[in-house]
Amino acid sequence: MANRIDVDQNKDHIGGNFDWDVAPSCCDLLKDAVDEEKFIFVSNFVSEESNTFYMLPVTNEGRFARDTGITISFCPWCGTKIVGKKKYAQENPA
Ligand SMILES: [Zn+2]
Repeated sequence: MANRIDVDQNKDHIGGNFDWDVAPSCCDLLKDAVDEEKFIFVSNFVSEESNTFYMLPVTNEGRFARDTGITISFCPWCGTKIVGKKKYAQENPA
């Protein structure tokens, strides 16, 4: 279970609705998967120098197939270790 994280869909499921402090720079595909395609999500959980990135399987009705995301540490496209940080508003720290 070490590669899974619990996801609060109301609080932690943020699909592209945030600004990057440090955007993932390994390749455009990863950044687009978060910002444009809403396929990869970024948790508010920060580990070392990066927020945790995860995937959530979706059923064909568009609902989440499960309550836990699957954490990914390396870019699925280019294989580089993922580094990305959300920018948090000063008046509303996470
Ligand atoms: Zn990449």
